[in-house]
Amino acid sequence: MIDPVFPAIDTATLALARAIIQLTLAGLVIWTGSRDEQRAGTRWWAAGLALHGISLLFYLVRYAPLDSLITAANHLTLGLSSACFLIGFWRFGHRPVQHALVVLIVAIPAISLLVWEWWMPIARWRILLTASSQLIFLAALQAVLASAPRREMAGIYRVLRVCSIAYALLLFWAYGSLVELLPTAARVPPGYHGVLFSVGSMLFLLALAVGFLALQYAQLACRHADQARTDWLTGLLNRRGLAQGAEETRARLPDDATSAVLALDIDRFKAVNDRYGHAAGDRVLRVIAWELTRSAGPDAVVARVGGEEFQVLMPDTDIDRATRFAEALREGCSRLEISTHSGAIRPTVSIGVSLLTGHQTLDDAARRADAALYRAKDAGRDRVEIDPAAGSA
Ligand code: GH3
Ligand code: MG
Ligand code: MG
Repeated sequence: MIDPVFPAIDTATLALARAIIQLTLAGLVIWTGSRDEQRAGTRWWAAGLALHGISLLFYLVRYAPLDSLITAANHLTLGLSSACFLIGFWRFGHRPVQHALVVLIVAIPAISLLVWEWWMPIARWRILLTASSQLIFLAALQAVLASAPRREMAGIYRVLRVCSIAYALLLFWAYGSLVELLPTAARVPPGYHGVLFSVGSMLFLLALAVGFLALQYAQLACRHADQARTDWLTGLLNRRGLAQGAEETRARLPDDATSAVLALDIDRFKAVNDRYGHAAGDRVLRVIAWELTRSAGPDAVVARVGGEEFQVLMPDTDIDRATRFAEALREGCSRLEISTHSGAIRPTVSIGVSLLTGHQTLDDAARRADAALYRAKDAGRDRVEIDPAAGSA
């Protein structure tokens, strides 16, 4: 026997305190989640915390005539709370809910009760079977925490993974010792399993609750950051987003890689607004933005940098490919037809192309692309001009 390290803790008082804390945290998670219009996962997490709190309240009730029912309610709310936590993570990460796992996690404690509590009461098997559902829950949790939906949340997911591994070890030790699977040397006096497990479980639930709050905060922060770098009208990046996106894209390329920068401006757009109205002009902007995104492909960084001005960064692209792309884009735009009450709009665009080599700044290359664009305007519009420096590169 190992000497107890901690002073004796009254597990019933602890359970009551935990139940109150968890119900409060459930309220807090709901409240912070109510500020998020998508609420993906939040309500499930709150439900998980609340159900876990309720399962602890059941544990406290001592009323002999209803003893079995109270044990059943305790086990079932515990199983349901685990299922809710998992569903919350699946929803939060926009992954499909795995119904079979949910059924398993809820059904195992129920079956364990039916068989080993009522039909042929053997506490050892009941405990083992119920513990196995918790281990399934923790394994599924490990899987769902393996990849965060956003890079900004990876740290929180990692910490939660470590916490759930620690909790799984504690669970294994506590249940293993209780049912005498582990050698006596690894065991502490009776009652201490309950205390250590209770404290460990409280810390795990607290870690989960803090994790939920941190994830909600991270999600809101991500959404605000996305909004700050996105153009609301077209959904493309704005100037700030372009700078950031270009930096990230270039960081992935070798130092001597060459990229292309395209500056694109819609021709005589003021006349489009004057003739068809501002709303029709907005539609033209959205259609051109869509055409740009579609033809530039997933590697390109596409932004609306001014009223009717766009910029595209094409990573790892030489001047021939950039020129071909610009020509195809100009032609694609000139084939667009946007119908309005006062007739169809057939927009055209002018494009300037420059090259961006490893040591140059995006601003440099954009200035040269702009200069080429102005030459395209001067030369009559609906055309592509190449920066002379790029042509001789
Ligand atoms: P150019 O061929 O020389 O580029 O002529 P332009 O008329 O396109 O150029 P100009 O710079 O004179 O006009 C740009 C117009 O773009 C003026 C403004 O009304 C319009 N514009 C800017 N932002 C928006 C917007 O968000 N929505 C709409 N509908 N129009 C916009
Ligand atoms: Mg224009
Ligand atoms: Mg312009």
